[in-house]
Amino acid sequence: SRTPVNVTVTGAAGQIGYALLFRIASGHLLGPDTPVRLRLLEIPQAVKAAEGTAMELDDCAFPLLAGIDIFDNPTDGFAGANVALLVGARPRTKGMERGDLLAANGGIFKPQGEAINAGAADDIKVLVVGNPANTNALIAQRHAPDVPAERFTAMTRLDHNRALTQLAKKAGVAVTDIAKLTIWGNHSATQYPDIFHARIAGKNAADVVDDRTWLADTFIPTVAKRGAAIIEARGASSAASAANAAIDHVHTWVNGTADGDWTSMGVVSDGSYGVPEGLISSFPVVCKDGAWEIVQGLDVNEFSRARIDASVQELAEERDAVRELGLI
Ligand code: NDP
Repeated sequence: SRTPVNVTVTGAAGQIGYALLFRIASGHLLGPDTPVRLRLLEIPQAVKAAEGTAMELDDCAFPLLAGIDIFDNPTDGFAGANVALLVGARPRTKGMERGDLLAANGGIFKPQGEAINAGAADDIKVLVVGNPANTNALIAQRHAPDVPAERFTAMTRLDHNRALTQLAKKAGVAVTDIAKLTIWGNHSATQYPDIFHARIAGKNAADVVDDRTWLADTFIPTVAKRGAAIIEARGASSAASAANAAIDHVHTWVNGTADGDWTSMGVVSDGSYGVPEGLISSFPVVCKDGAWEIVQGLDVNEFSRARIDASVQELAEERDAVRELGLI
């Protein structure tokens, strides 16, 4: 049997953690042939709740689950980690300024980056889910100078999946008929879901839909504001779909994108498409052999350009703010 892969999950006792851990342990993150060892990281006050979740994981008797350890500090939590899912973050509370939010999260993601740098496995892959995810990923990445920058990613797969379903409904097709959809920019209300390069059963999606008003006034805002709509409807956040997207993100990163398709990931920019080098921004990426690459050479029309620029501008402002706070 294979050596277990060490998967560290932060915020393990939270809502997303509860929806995520059982699927990791049942083999949906890395596949049915890969045993996993879970390393749950929580703040000291939440360790007891994490222990409760660990009891339930034990009670599932998952064949692929090789062990569970619980930690209250990042140094131990990330030691030997092959995959790290950074879910725990400081939520925005009423009246909180953006600077306060970024500072609070800097206090979490800086030491986590340092701990990953010091003790994670050489093949470490990091996904940041906790918001503001792109900038939290940037902070962690900048404090892990010995880890290749491309190992730090931020989640826009939930936005990507949301966009897939909205487009499939509009076009009256199955989600599996759609390829090459893209989320650009920040995982925030400024994100830009782009269908101009998407294909529906081999045809251009924007041509198939042929409805700019729907695109601008319905599709884009529905995808961008979906999280708020779910909170409004169910009285709780979209934890299960966020967990599902985290599973999808890592699964695709490890196992590759399908031929003729790509996915969306927040990754370190190399300057492609006018996104300043070093920002962690969402791009169309293909994954192969455990690595991602930004899809090159796409034409960006005026409609898309304005929206990508606005979201990237927001990312640049967040970067400048954390720089001013001395967090990077
Ligand atoms: P959740 O598990 O619901 O959410 C965790 C993070 O994921 C938040 O930053 C949240 O952002 C973000 N997120 C991203 N996408 C989504 C989405 N689609 N729907 C909902 N959330 C999304 O939060 P809980 O409060 O239930 O749990 C957080 C846990 O993290 C707590 O147990 C806490 O103790 C722990 N924690 C651990 C830390 C550590 O390990 N060092 C540090 C800080 C906290 P948003 O705020 O925008 O909803």
